[in-house]
Amino acid sequence: MSEKQEYSFNVGVPQGQFLSHSVTAGTVYTGRAQILSTHERTIWHLVQVLTCAAGMFIWGALFLRPALGLHLLWNVLIPVAPALLVIAPGVWRNVCPLGSLSLAPHHFGLSLRRRLSPAWRGRLYLGALVLLIVVVPLRKGLLDTNGPVLATILGAVGVLAIWLGMVFTQKSSWCSSLCPVYPVELLYGSRPLMSVPNTHCPQCSQCVTPCSESTPGLTPSTAVNTELGRAVGIVLTGCFPGFVWGWYNVPTYSGWEGVRHLHIIYGVPYSAGALTLALFLVLRRIRPKEDELFVRMFAAAAIITYYWFRLPSIFGIGDASAALIVDVSPWLPSWSTTALRISVLVVFTWLMVIREGKQRAWEIHPATVQTLNIPAGEGGSA
Ligand code: SF4
Repeated sequence: MSEKQEYSFNVGVPQGQFLSHSVTAGTVYTGRAQILSTHERTIWHLVQVLTCAAGMFIWGALFLRPALGLHLLWNVLIPVAPALLVIAPGVWRNVCPLGSLSLAPHHFGLSLRRRLSPAWRGRLYLGALVLLIVVVPLRKGLLDTNGPVLATILGAVGVLAIWLGMVFTQKSSWCSSLCPVYPVELLYGSRPLMSVPNTHCPQCSQCVTPCSESTPGLTPSTAVNTELGRAVGIVLTGCFPGFVWGWYNVPTYSGWEGVRHLHIIYGVPYSAGALTLALFLVLRRIRPKEDELFVRMFAAAAIITYYWFRLPSIFGIGDASAALIVDVSPWLPSWSTTALRISVLVVFTWLMVIREGKQRAWEIHPATVQTLNIPAGEGGSA
């Protein structure tokens, strides 16, 4: 019996009440299925196609029209992403072009669908942190100004994501392990405002446990359930506010100037990150019961630091070339920078630290696939 035929038994059937009278061995589906109408599914797929097309356009522009590609990536896409991760990380998880690339082998039946062991997931998660803290400072010395080099690195990352998707099942290896954005998604997205349908997982094979999409309140140190995973999460959470602050306090170098100033490019964010990590560890040691609050505070501190520096320039203040769409700074009053920064402080403190209420997952959980080892001829019934 095909998976699709069996799945049709259980769509819309409440948890624990699925029918399996014709099952002899193999796969059954439990749990309430996430039902998307054809219309909704079409819209999501359209958005996924559009974001992939936009990603390919930016990638091509980085080679052919580097100034345009660099502007679209660094001044349009990236400044919007952190706020989206706070409000609706599931939207990003559904439409991220690299995620879609990595999951394409699964969707087209080309993946070997191997399971990733928890130990290897922990190692890949460490790889995600290393990628993040190596590549982000390199922006200041190379990647903010050199489109072809950036496109080459992105191309290599895309090939890696596809290869991992061809070997391992669903989101286990890339989206929920090695992707360098994944730790940041966990840091900023632990208290989303909304959950959305999971459009990449029509059925859940429990590719990772706990599921990053469906488990409310996951943080960088609780998402990957190994000692290494917890350590990676603690380091990321503690160092990120200082790392972001340090990054903004490094000038942008071009050409060989970047190579000559690697000690500054890496030294400043790493030193500032080490200081906030030390503070985080001390706070956890002194008040272990307040750990969850400290995680929220450090996550908020990181994103507030990011927009403290970045939001004024989104409007062209201080750097007309960094404006999101157009430079509107000539029409803004002189106190705009202060007002924008206070807004950032208030909004993200409320969203990430003060706000109480129901914990939401990034996405709505789909039906779960379970494999039964029932000998042929002993089919059960319910
Ligand atoms: S819903 Fe299931 S298959 Fe999809 S990411 Fe979560 S655990 Fe993996």
